[in-house]
Amino acid sequence: MLNAKKIEKAVTHYASHKDESVRANLRAFAPALLKAAELRARLDRPAPEWSDQEIKSAALGRASLLSARAPEIDPGQFLEAAGEIAAALRGGLGPQESGALEAVDFSAYADASALQLAARDPMAWLAEVEEKAAGLPALDSYVLPVLGLTLRVFLEAAADAASRRIDPLIRDYAHHNRPLRCPVCGSEAAVACVAETQSNGSVKRLYCTCCGADWLFERIRCAHCGTQVVSDLSYVHDEADEEHRLHLCRHCGSAFPTVFSKDSERFTPEVEEIVMSGLEAFYAGQPRR
Ligand SMILES: [Zn+2]
Ligand SMILES: [Zn+2]
Repeated sequence: MLNAKKIEKAVTHYASHKDESVRANLRAFAPALLKAAELRARLDRPAPEWSDQEIKSAALGRASLLSARAPEIDPGQFLEAAGEIAAALRGGLGPQESGALEAVDFSAYADASALQLAARDPMAWLAEVEEKAAGLPALDSYVLPVLGLTLRVFLEAAADAASRRIDPLIRDYAHHNRPLRCPVCGSEAAVACVAETQSNGSVKRLYCTCCGADWLFERIRCAHCGTQVVSDLSYVHDEADEEHRLHLCRHCGSAFPTVFSKDSERFTPEVEEIVMSGLEAFYAGQPRR
């Protein structure tokens, strides 16, 4: 869940990160994340009333909950939120990038039917936005993040409620694989976190930064392709930083960002996604073994 206190704590913790691009991205995006957290707190609405069958089907990774029942998003409210998030982001950008973002007309991507699709199938909507907005300056770096973060504001209460209902089922389904895709919105997880729990030892969860859901996942399994072949999986990390690792999979070639969390009070998937980008960029430039 977007939580202003945790975001601030994480941003302070990483303010002196060794990688300049990580520091710059944190400076640019922190105000937008904080704005989204504030908007989300103001807009707390009840989650759709999913049936037990729908929850079960999501926990088994068969159908996303939003595809069954999605919250309604009011286009006026959405555009207002997108404007506020864009303004917060522009505050952290240089004049040229800020100007490009200011010129974007978000209403082109957020009429009633587009937002119905966004609530039901966020990935399909973002793909549609990308197609419509092709050629727009700052599309990938700022326009999509603003729209994605705005959608998150409207989905998160539902995702949060859903995650808590799905959790005990996933824990019980010992003979089923856990969902690879987000059980709430169907997106791929952005980051994994391994943390000590009071009752279940060390546990891995996957985090979806699209809707804000999180779910239990197998410790030794690729979060991208799902293989559980132990000899295909390994971790790499910086010598000086054991907290941030990439889970390498020889089967599909992915390098999945995984945080071995030392402080749950500052674990924020959106911030960790930015922090991990440094390690990912470094690893991408290395010859594969
Ligand atoms: Zn999701
Ligand atoms: Zn894999």
